[in-house]
Amino acid sequence: MGRILDGKAVAAELRGRVAVAAGVFASRAGRKAGLEVVLVGEDPASQVYVRNKARACEEAGLRGVVHRLPADTTQGALLELVHGLGARDDVDGILVQLPLPKHLHEDAVLQAVPADKDVDGFHLLNAGALFTGREGLVPCTPTGCMRLLDHAGGDLSGARAVVVGRSNIVGKPMAMLLLARHATVTLAHSRTRDLGLLCATADILIAAVGRAGLVRGDWVRPGAIVIDVGINRDAQGKLVGDVAFDEAAERAAWITPVPGGVGPMTIACLLENTLRAAWRRKGLPPGELTL
Ligand code: NAD
Repeated sequence: MGRILDGKAVAAELRGRVAVAAGVFASRAGRKAGLEVVLVGEDPASQVYVRNKARACEEAGLRGVVHRLPADTTQGALLELVHGLGARDDVDGILVQLPLPKHLHEDAVLQAVPADKDVDGFHLLNAGALFTGREGLVPCTPTGCMRLLDHAGGDLSGARAVVVGRSNIVGKPMAMLLLARHATVTLAHSRTRDLGLLCATADILIAAVGRAGLVRGDWVRPGAIVIDVGINRDAQGKLVGDVAFDEAAERAAWITPVPGGVGPMTIACLLENTLRAAWRRKGLPPGELTL
């Protein structure tokens, strides 16, 4: 039976370190580091996510503000808000909660967030920085996965990593981060042939698809590290990942549970990104930010 990669515990530790560094920032800058979250519409899952994000900010000594806009908000009004937040000196991070209502142009809104405040790492400059190995803000979920892999230990260099899912938010940046750590990365997706056989070659298996139980036990190479990013509801309405957990846990060396794996890490890394953005914007010495 594999060991559980406890995202809640690793996230709590990271949040503790962010809280200490947030205190240092506040004393140097004379104000708290601040994240502004923009929510458009009434999507119930999004409401929960933004509430959790703002609460996590406050608990870590950051300022977390939520802007709630009605579902029929126009593109112009939303852009005006984002531009306004972009111009404010006391705003270090801006996060536009996705998905946006259908009539809004998601990409235009995301690109309106200044790159140095783009704590989600979705701006083209940050995506390009990640692709070319430069300093930038990196998407929170893959960053959280990397921290979990580091917690599990083991050398990523030369390891065979298979990432299932190629979204801009999770799969692609995940592949880039693994590559930067010298893993040999295969990015799989809905058209990949013989997915099970491919997964069974992986020392590190990341599932980021959104299909309950897609990854079966015999897709897991004995001794692999399995990170399950998926969030799904099963037929009973229970929260489950993309990996058939009980089967996979029999073979994996380490495996993340859902819930309690990647989810808490995503929020902790959002706090970390906000603090990093604030630190950089204030011009504080990078070496003195220890996270
Ligand atoms: P997405 O829908 O944008 O991308 C899904 C990817 O899966 C696509 O690249 C597609 O090619 C691939 N795919 C679809 N069906 C497949 C199949 N049968 N076999 C192989 N690949 C297949 O989703 P996303 O935004 O990347 O999110 C993926 C999952 O991760 C979702 O369940 C989402 O809720 C979850 N998620 C969790 C967190 C977290 O914090 N835990 C954060 C972001 C996303």
